[in-house]
Amino acid sequence: MKYVPFVLIASVFITLPGGTLAQDLSQFTAVQGPVIALTNVKVIDGTGGPPSVGQTIIIRGDRIETTGPSSGTRIPAGAEILDLTGHTVIPGLIGLHNHSYYTGGRGRAAQLSFSGSRLYLASGVTTIRTTGARQPYAEINLKKEIDEGRVIGPTIFATGPYLTGEQGPERMVRLEGPEQARRVVRYWAEEGVDWFKAYTWISRAELGAAIDEAHRQGIKVTAHLCSVGYREAVALGIDNLEHGLYANSEYASNKQPDECPSGFRNGYADLDIDSPEVQATFRDMIDNNVAMTSTLVVYEASVSGRPPIDERVFEMLAPEIAEEVRQMSIEFRAEGRGSSPAVFAKAMEYERAFVEAGGLLAAGVDPTGYGAAPPGLGDQRNYELLLEAGFTAPQVVQIMSANGAKVLGIDNEVGTVEAGRTADLVVIEGDLEIVGSLQGTKIVFRHGIAWDSAKLLDSIRGIVGIR
Ligand SMILES: [Zn+2]
Repeated sequence: MKYVPFVLIASVFITLPGGTLAQDLSQFTAVQGPVIALTNVKVIDGTGGPPSVGQTIIIRGDRIETTGPSSGTRIPAGAEILDLTGHTVIPGLIGLHNHSYYTGGRGRAAQLSFSGSRLYLASGVTTIRTTGARQPYAEINLKKEIDEGRVIGPTIFATGPYLTGEQGPERMVRLEGPEQARRVVRYWAEEGVDWFKAYTWISRAELGAAIDEAHRQGIKVTAHLCSVGYREAVALGIDNLEHGLYANSEYASNKQPDECPSGFRNGYADLDIDSPEVQATFRDMIDNNVAMTSTLVVYEASVSGRPPIDERVFEMLAPEIAEEVRQMSIEFRAEGRGSSPAVFAKAMEYERAFVEAGGLLAAGVDPTGYGAAPPGLGDQRNYELLLEAGFTAPQVVQIMSANGAKVLGIDNEVGTVEAGRTADLVVIEGDLEIVGSLQGTKIVFRHGIAWDSAKLLDSIRGIVGIR
């Protein structure tokens, strides 16, 4: 089609203020300049504090040079000026469960190094942690190619292969004990992954060994759990826990050590969030600085009675996949057919209560399942779902930016709109507090390079899900 990834036809690079970029990719930028001034804009800065109106942000090279009231800001001579009256600027989104692959329809799976990377960036996601790799070398190489300006995409924190038990799917490492866990972690740490992800059927002994070895190697571990409860994982030293209530089996009455109790979520519709059991989970996580990752969008896909899927999803997907996803969404979401709306509401309540207790909540899309939550577009839907969960707009922005940066240990670089930070920013049409949606994303700055969201989307329309 338009561009063949990884085959460099002409290795001509241009130097932009934010770094070098393959020349043929510069057609996707919205504006270029050594200095760019975003004027008269409303800023929700990622700290969770109240928004500021009438702001001017000066971007020089890959940095935010200044930010403050337009009336008191001197615009440097020669700056490219974008008058953003009627727009909102937020920090670039940091997706903490943002796979570089996608599963869609009935059993399809594809590494989306080309379309997924563009779709993340076009949607405002400037940093991803992949949180489970099907092809770890594809991720390590993709990360490098993006950093070198050869491929368009977000900053990547790569993950090793999933670590699970003998019941796990064939694409994962089916651990046969703690020693293997250590060996696998050592190998991939040396190869350059930043994180590991443990999955559903891992045992406590294997998880403990993986965490210990990862920490020795200077990398971290998160998990989508079931056979191990959250409090057990915290005691083993885990760094992050994925999917909130949906992956915490420790409240199930039939939970046995090292076993994943089937259907445990069905009992959660009436879970008392104020109960000592739930509060103990929150306290353990908070006391040990273990963050929770919200992935509401991938669960919403199968909940009965939810509103229809965003039409843009079907426009971006390859037509054959789009048709399958549409059919499946209709089947799953029919009243009484899919998963429980009460459990979905409880999962929202769980996340809000965790934050109220002082917990660190971040978010990610998890573009898996039957494919209704693709890269980027699903992150945008998470914004709406977190509002529905009861968070304010500044809180949601914080969860989706600064909190993710904290989990990754890069909060001194990105995650807030602040002088001196890397210029990773999203420009959204309209007043975000009023429109309540990130669908108006127009320009996405990563390292000071201003990507035109519409141009990026046009370049991948109809091929998402394939490559
Ligand atoms: Zn996942």
